[in-house]
Amino acid sequence: MSRFLRDRAQPARCPLCRAVISPPKHVKEGLWYEFDGGFCQCGAAYAYDPTARNGGPALLQAMLMACRGDMEKAMSLSPDTDYDEGHVHRYDGHHVNPQAFGTLYFIRRRPAINSD
Ligand SMILES: [Zn+2]
Repeated sequence: MSRFLRDRAQPARCPLCRAVISPPKHVKEGLWYEFDGGFCQCGAAYAYDPTARNGGPALLQAMLMACRGDMEKAMSLSPDTDYDEGHVHRYDGHHVNPQAFGTLYFIRRRPAINSD
């Protein structure tokens, strides 16, 4: 990688809280998680699609991780009321890089009890 590109590579930040996240790694909990991922300090779950072709499954995995693997719960969530979603584009597995084309998918559930 050229110095120019290396200087432009930035650590990924959670789109929901702006904290720098750890690079995604193999998710140990759950038996079938296909993508690397992790959890932000704000509670958001994220999954990394390195190919830019698997957006649906990667997003679903992030939702499942946010629900601790509870598929029934994940399927019952409504996007406007139950969770927030965010994406980080041009992610290469370690950094946001202008030449990368992977995507990080973030899901953060909102508190279950919402007074309004
Ligand atoms: Zn966060």
